[in-house]
Amino acid sequence: MTTELDALVIGAGFAGMYQLHCLRDRLGLNVKALEAGGGVGGTWYWNRYPGARCDSESHVYWYTFSEALMNEWEWSERYPGQAEIMRYLNFAADKLDLKKDISFNTRVTSARYDDAANRWHVGTENGESYSVKYLVTAVGCLSTANVPKFPGLENFKGDWYHTGQWPHEGVDFTGKRVGMIGTGSTGIQAAPVIAAQAKHLTVFQRTANYSVPARNAPLASEFKQYVKQNAKGIRAATRETLNGMAFKIEDRKAVETPAEERETLYEAAWERGGLQFRATFQDMMVSKEANDTAADFVKRKIRSIVKDPSVAALLSDIDHPYAAKRPPIDTDYFETYNRDNVTLVDVKSKPIVGISEHGIVTDDGEYPVDIIVFATGFDAMTGPMLRLNLTGRDGVALKDVWESGPRNYLGLQIAGFPNLFTITGPGSPSVLCNMPVAIEQHVDWISQCIEHMRDNGLETIEAKPEAVDQWVAEVNELANKTLLPQAKHSWYLGANIPGKPRVFMPYAGGMVRYRETCDDVAAKGYEGFALA
Ligand code: NAP
Repeated sequence: MTTELDALVIGAGFAGMYQLHCLRDRLGLNVKALEAGGGVGGTWYWNRYPGARCDSESHVYWYTFSEALMNEWEWSERYPGQAEIMRYLNFAADKLDLKKDISFNTRVTSARYDDAANRWHVGTENGESYSVKYLVTAVGCLSTANVPKFPGLENFKGDWYHTGQWPHEGVDFTGKRVGMIGTGSTGIQAAPVIAAQAKHLTVFQRTANYSVPARNAPLASEFKQYVKQNAKGIRAATRETLNGMAFKIEDRKAVETPAEERETLYEAAWERGGLQFRATFQDMMVSKEANDTAADFVKRKIRSIVKDPSVAALLSDIDHPYAAKRPPIDTDYFETYNRDNVTLVDVKSKPIVGISEHGIVTDDGEYPVDIIVFATGFDAMTGPMLRLNLTGRDGVALKDVWESGPRNYLGLQIAGFPNLFTITGPGSPSVLCNMPVAIEQHVDWISQCIEHMRDNGLETIEAKPEAVDQWVAEVNELANKTLLPQAKHSWYLGANIPGKPRVFMPYAGGMVRYRETCDDVAAKGYEGFALA
């Protein structure tokens, strides 16, 4: 039995839920969402690891398309934790009555475009099949867990977990020796919480990382009141910044600021905490000399916090510019290394060679552990798309089209894949932006595009190959104007996955410019797209 629909949305996180709402309730389409998880939430459904918390501040991390939703919700902390975000997304799904049109526990395993019928045929792991005119992927950027292929893992006698596939019932670390691999945003959030419970935590660090204190705290009632009264103004502010946050990047340049004043400004930013540290100077991400001043400040902070000089040296031996990798923010991360039950192991000089029955083996020997936590990140951006097994016009597979890296137009459409839209895919600001802002822009654009097609009796929309060429060149050019590609091990570049093409994936031109470009394309009759 094949279910015929107007449209199908893959995923029911922030993006899929809003897309379902727009297509069903604004456009009146016959639409469903398919979701691999057992509930709504996407990234937040899976990432339940200890310490999981958002790095966008709560007053900008929500839907802003509905005043009713904004009026009725109140966040409790400066940064929302995973459990509270799940409560929020369930609140939004219930309020919009979305769940009745979402099939949970339904993983899409194939999607094939049928040229003759102009339909997408979508298959699921459960054997269901759908035939739809429009297919929208809302699969997230960081939803394909990367568990490095260490030999011997299958023989490990203890338990192991990837942070992005965390058990719903939680993990009890009491009395356990825990080995955690990875010091990205996830490992940096998890380490202090695991260390507080475990008998011993050994952190295996390959690339040392910067981190700035988050300074998370419960929100004061005055601030909650302020957000209620100014929700629309805050929303407007997030539409005017490069990164969809409500704070602006300062106009001043680090290289033109006297050293003493610069230090005072960094110190104030460190005390304030959070991603805003990156906004202290406007030249931080484009001038190595400017960035060095921030990098030096954070490295000195690390050395001042961590008491053992050899551990401090390892943690502050950072090989890339500040924020060229996604900059983590933390609660007591570096302080955790002052605990008696925490050890740092350098696996850059002495790499992990395998897993034994009883622990993690490096070039330096075996580290016995009861539990391994893989905080080893994701096959980011392209991974979630490629595992859908998409096949476009003339039977061409996406994996072949993207063999040398992702290629699309505006991050929204792939040439040869008509009527397929990708929310926050590679080539869009996505992960360089506060995600709900990027998601709402994409969903609005896609919904208006489908409305335009319906109102004009159009059957297909497809990115033109020449528009794709230009867009890929622009995405590269914009990235190369920044220091972002200089972090050689970054997942932005695909460098964390062995064999993955090294291509800088997100659009680094900022959300404001990107939004204008998309609006301009639509205003010019969808320039760069073939409509038929
Ligand atoms: P990640 O940034 O890719 O970090 C993965 C870590 O695992 C790195 O330290 C990496 O070392 C290490 N690793 C990977 N393979 C390894 C191997 N074979 N041997 C030794 N070490 C290995 O992943 P993540 O920390 O999960 O973060 C991914 C993204 O998720 C973040 O950048 C952020 O965008 C998002 N996130 C957001 C939040 C938040 O909102 N607060 C929290 C968590 C995550 P190398 O650096 O040497 O590759």
